[in-house]
Amino acid sequence: YTGPLEKVGPCQWKIPKSYRDDMRVDGLIFADDRLIEQIRKDQGPEQVANVATLPGIQRASLAMPDIHWGYGFAIGGVAATDPDEGGVISPGGVGYDINCGVRLLRSELTWEETKPHLKRLVDQLYRDIPTGVGQSGHYTFRPDELAELMDQGARFVVDRGWGTPRDLEFTEAGGRLEGAEPDRVSPRAFARGADQCGTLGSGNHFLEVQVVDRVLDEQAAEVMGLREGMITVLIHSGSRGLGYQVCEDHLAMFRDAPRTYGFELPDRQLACAPVRSPEGQAYLGAMRAAANFAWCNRQLLTHQARLVFQRIFGQSAESLGMDLVYDVAHNIAKFEDHEVGLDRRKTVCVHRKGATRAFPPGHPEIPAPYRGIGQPVIIPGSMGTASWVLAGQEGSMRQSFGSSCHGAGRMMSRTAAVKLAAGRRIDKELDAIGIIARARGHKGLAEEQPAAYKDVDQVVEVVDTAGISKKVARLRPIGVIKG
Ligand code: 5GP
Ligand code: MN
Ligand code: MN
Repeated sequence: YTGPLEKVGPCQWKIPKSYRDDMRVDGLIFADDRLIEQIRKDQGPEQVANVATLPGIQRASLAMPDIHWGYGFAIGGVAATDPDEGGVISPGGVGYDINCGVRLLRSELTWEETKPHLKRLVDQLYRDIPTGVGQSGHYTFRPDELAELMDQGARFVVDRGWGTPRDLEFTEAGGRLEGAEPDRVSPRAFARGADQCGTLGSGNHFLEVQVVDRVLDEQAAEVMGLREGMITVLIHSGSRGLGYQVCEDHLAMFRDAPRTYGFELPDRQLACAPVRSPEGQAYLGAMRAAANFAWCNRQLLTHQARLVFQRIFGQSAESLGMDLVYDVAHNIAKFEDHEVGLDRRKTVCVHRKGATRAFPPGHPEIPAPYRGIGQPVIIPGSMGTASWVLAGQEGSMRQSFGSSCHGAGRMMSRTAAVKLAAGRRIDKELDAIGIIARARGHKGLAEEQPAAYKDVDQVVEVVDTAGISKKVARLRPIGVIKG
């Protein structure tokens, strides 16, 4: 990217609307002086400018410090559109993996208690939890059941005994987007989803056993039930083949929308349609159904993880204290109330594509126990470095439509990462630093090696400094299973 980037704050960089004739608003990237140099290296900033051309976009086209190039929208992108002003919905602003997200479980187990069982634990997790591309799982649903599941969200799974009502309370949106329309989900998507609920998937998806390495905010950590030296489990997965198929089906249906509704797009991958159009409504209905499927998926993964812990430690998940800290989506579009101008509040369509909701203390949409500290924001780093728990702050409402980053963010393509790993054994390198990694193949581990990602501590520093979300606890990996 060779266009303009003006430093307008300690970690805010503007792409002025004057950069291109077609931009309706500015671009704004959150980064420090070092990260911005990395960010310039790909076309991510140009994609931020592209998104700034979308009909009905409000305030600015935003990107978090973990930004990198993605399909249409950059990963790490946030954009809000106003349906009253012809605002659009774009599948590329949600991502192929609809409601990809993370959930963090705590436990009362300490690192000392766990150490002697760690290898057995990770091996058992790897045996019992289905991983890998297209892998089928232990739960299958008939089409009528799947339709009900996509309508109800995580409650469908909890009602069958695979979780607790408390799990729902600590899931974003209660694990259910209203307005899901399973009828808008194609038979092919149904077929792909039938046996994939409760499976991890491939590549970047993982289940990780961690230790709370450092607590930075005692009070918030206490409320979340996190103490130094305690074991946590981080689960990263989304809507599997079902969500992918929904995205693909609707991208095709959006192809003619610019001509039908009279706007131009700088990139075909930005395919979109007005929120208030038949095409837009169809995608929204299907996207919500896929999002609900993803929450069921993470809930079933949670259930399976609890069963493995019960087996290895010979105690119930309750007595091990395996409560859900929080579950948060990072590929989604939702209608939320935000300030769009001076004293002007509106319901806008917030696209978060590789970005996490980060509502501040007091926000009515976060569970009551967290109202005093802000919504937990869960940031995976990599399997060899750290991950973070943050809490949403007031600055997110003022600057980023209530959003924060979603990870460290890739800084190397998968191909480049595989090349860099030539002749190396990533699993052995991890083992040497006390991390047990299990994956289907060496290629997957090579693509996901820690060096492929930005420095998560630095990324988190940016969102903390910007006042979007503040650091609560740092987590360190000790065992990971991958697709
Ligand atoms: P994405 O949703 O964009 O695929 O990934 C989110 C983030 O997860 C990445 O930006 C990266 O920082 C992080 N990540 C990828 N693999 C792992 C892993 O094995 N463990 C942890 N803790 N984080 C990971
Ligand atoms: Mn993800
Ligand atoms: Mn995903």
